[in-house]
Amino acid sequence: MSLVVMKFGGSSVGDAERMKRVAKRIVERKRDGHSCVVVVSAMGDTTDDLIDLSKQIYDGAPPAREMDMLLTTGEQVSVSLLSMAIQALGEKAVSYTGWQSGIYTEAVHAKARITNIQPHRVLKSIEEGNVVIVAGFQGMTEEGEITTLGRGGSDTTAVALAAAIKADLCEIYTDVDGVYSTDPRIVKVARKLNEVSYDEMLELANLGAAVLHPRAVEYAKNYNVTLVVRSSFTYNEGTHVKEEAVMEQGIVVRGIAYDKNVARISILGVPEKPGQLASVFSALAKAQIDVDIIVQSGVIAGSADFSFTTSLSDLDKALQVLEGIRESIGFREVTSQVNLVKVSIVGAGMVSTPGVAATMFEVISKLGISISLVSTSEIKISCVIDGSQLSEVVRELHTAYGLDTSEQAFVGGPSERR
Ligand code: ADP
Ligand code: ASP
Ligand code: MG
Repeated sequence: MSLVVMKFGGSSVGDAERMKRVAKRIVERKRDGHSCVVVVSAMGDTTDDLIDLSKQIYDGAPPAREMDMLLTTGEQVSVSLLSMAIQALGEKAVSYTGWQSGIYTEAVHAKARITNIQPHRVLKSIEEGNVVIVAGFQGMTEEGEITTLGRGGSDTTAVALAAAIKADLCEIYTDVDGVYSTDPRIVKVARKLNEVSYDEMLELANLGAAVLHPRAVEYAKNYNVTLVVRSSFTYNEGTHVKEEAVMEQGIVVRGIAYDKNVARISILGVPEKPGQLASVFSALAKAQIDVDIIVQSGVIAGSADFSFTTSLSDLDKALQVLEGIRESIGFREVTSQVNLVKVSIVGAGMVSTPGVAATMFEVISKLGISISLVSTSEIKISCVIDGSQLSEVVRELHTAYGLDTSEQAFVGGPSERR
């Protein structure tokens, strides 16, 4: 008998009907002779709605501990209802929170890493014949504080749990039937990848491809978890994420990702002296704020300007931190820009193919869009641009790199998402 971890995302359990359909799918798997551990996310847009609610109560960056307390309630609703739905179909099921499942994390709010999983309770319940349902996205510190793993973090719960209980397979069920060359909601002629390597998937996920949480891919790679992304709405074969993937010949750019969770911050009039950059970025790092592309734009009369990107969700916190060090650094002004998007192309063959970057810049400029920031590595190029024409940019890039296929991508669930 095999042990399978099945993870269902928010849109797969968006309402009672969908919850019941997911329960049926799990019961089928169980009756086929598998032991099932299920990880589930909050229903539909619950997490976004809870964030909106907190904004009505608190101006600026809300207390991180209380945010985690609030957001973890979403997953708790899902696990209890899914357990009821499975029991209504005549199978034994039990729901657990992250902490009841022995998921320990570092003492960081909003984007904690899992440090350790003690799954004895989960394993015992499986032995007793239960479908075990675990709340995704949440854990507990050694001191007993509730934490969350970052947006999209239920994928990471699933993969980490699969590693901890030595599951034979981890299936990520979502509202598209696999990993595509780009978001199939934007490009209808995106091509489905039958296989993708951990490394390429990690790059795509880090650059914003929401279909898998980056840390889930990291875990899968480190613990060699067999990972399949597939649809909760169809029985189509999904995408296998593995160490080595078979690649189509002649394709240089494998995928296009975009990230709307981007803000640009500029610090103007920074008096020039050694250690200034270090002071700014260590203050940001201390507040757990990740910084992405950094650009210094010249020194005039002994003072410099520089810009960097950070996630939109960290913007308020970052501005607060910078205000706190304004006097000690002595800069003149901080400005910020939102409504941006980072568009990236990814492919292992890019480094040895000339003209890949030039094509990207041409496509973007033909649409009349100027590029604010660029960053490159051996296997990716990212451009930060105004977000208003995102869909066109992604579609044009997809065509320019020869990725369009004639098959229509499957997209289930709600067509309008935030
Ligand atoms: P879930 O609620 O199941 O976790 P997510 O919204 O987090 O679902 O992830 C699935 C979504 O990821 C898809 O609906 C699709 O719009 C988006 N997506 C972005 N890039 C890709 C890609 N390369 N392949 C497939 N889906 C992608
Ligand atoms: N509910 C959380 C979110 O919306 C976690 C997840 O869906 O994976 O980000
Ligand atoms: Mg997700």
